[in-house]
Formats: sequence, structure tokens, C-alpha cells
Amino acid sequence: MKLFIATGNLHKLREIRAILAVPGLDITSPRDWPTPLPPIEEDGLTFEDNAVKKALFTAFATGLWTLADDSGLEVDALDNAPGVRSARYAGEPSQDAANNALLLKNLAHSTNRRARFRCALALCSPKGHCQVVDGVCPGSLLTAPRGANGFGYDPLFVPDRYTKTFAEMPDTEKNKISHRAQALQKAADTWGDLFAGDAQDWPQR
Ligand code: IMP
Repeated sequence: MKLFIATGNLHKLREIRAILAVPGLDITSPRDWPTPLPPIEEDGLTFEDNAVKKALFTAFATGLWTLADDSGLEVDALDNAPGVRSARYAGEPSQDAANNALLLKNLAHSTNRRARFRCALALCSPKGHCQVVDGVCPGSLLTAPRGANGFGYDPLFVPDRYTKTFAEMPDTEKNKISHRAQALQKAADTWGDLFAGDAQDWPQR
């Protein structure tokens, strides 16, 4: 199957390609597409809403099976903010350093550092039928950034049972435990047979 990945984020694309290495799956992305695709506003209330919206619009625009993710960080002490606003927490344009600085400022007086990354992955057929899987990675937040790998909130986030931040891990280590890795593993397990074939829509049940 030819599968379009609806993301311009190269870190995510690399993570998706590494985990979703299913035989017969031909992955393509906006970088390989001959014309610019219309921007899609991520205005959903949940990660799932946004992932479905991105995958659905892009599947119609490309005529291909499309996978889209939406992800972000939920912080207990901030009533699960930044959540779906993770990318734009400190405003537009999205800037990792500004987002991390604002997060630290808003947590300055908090001893509860519990947080989790969440990822929803939507797969839509060219005919516009979608399914969703998700992944969660719980952990805690430091009071100052550590490490230079990864992106986003990685330098502040220490996953449970680890002492390193995501930004101190090589991609290969993060890819074993991340929220996106877990959602992608579910995607490979749930949709692997579909990926290996050339169906135009979901099989009838
Ligand atoms: P999205 O591109 O709309 O899914 O926005 C995701 C935002 O959540 C990113 O811009 C990051 O700020 C944050 N985020 C999602 N996944 C990760 C991750 O694996 N590490 C660090 N930050 C992440």
C-alpha cells in the first residue's frame, strides 16, 4: 500500500518510518508531493479530533490512504494543559524554547511534576473512512532542560523508570517507549495486514 503521512515534522516522520517498517508499505509525505497541500487548522478539543481531521482532509486531497498524528503534553498541575495546544503554548509561531520556558514558569511553584505525552494516530482510507489508535507515555518534568536530542518538550521530560530526559536519549531508545512509538506499534499490529495489501477501503466486517 502507498501510505501518505500527513506531517511536515521531520522528527516525527523519522520516528514513524523507523517504527512502521512493514513489508509492502510505501511511505510518502508532503515533501514528496508535487503541489502544496492546503493547511489544516488544528482546532479540535482532543488529540483524536485533530488527528482524524488532518488524516481525513489529506486523504481526500491526495486520494491516498493517509496517516496523521496529533500529540502533546498533559501536565497534572496545569489541569492537563498544554494538551492540544502543546505546539502553540507560548503563541504563534510555534517555538520549542518559548514553550519550554513558559511551562517552567507556570510550574515554578508546583511540587507536582507529573505529566504524560499522548499521541492519537488516525488512518483514513481514500474514501474517507477512519480508525484511530493511541499511545501514552507517563513521566515527570524537570525544573531545567537537559539534553540536545529530539524536539518540543523532550529536554524537560523524564519518562517513568528512567533517569534521562527524552532529549538525552538516542532516537532508538526514545522510539522504544514514546507515546508515538506505542501508538505506531498498535497501528502496525492492528493495520499491518491492510498495509501489506492494496485495498481501497477498510475490509467489510
Ligand atoms: P502536533 O504537531 O500538533 O502533534 O503538536 C505536537 C506538539 O506537542 C509539539 O510541537 C511538541 O511541542 C509536543 N510534542 C509532541 N510529541 C512530542 C515528543 O515526542 N517530544 C516532545 N514534544 C512533543
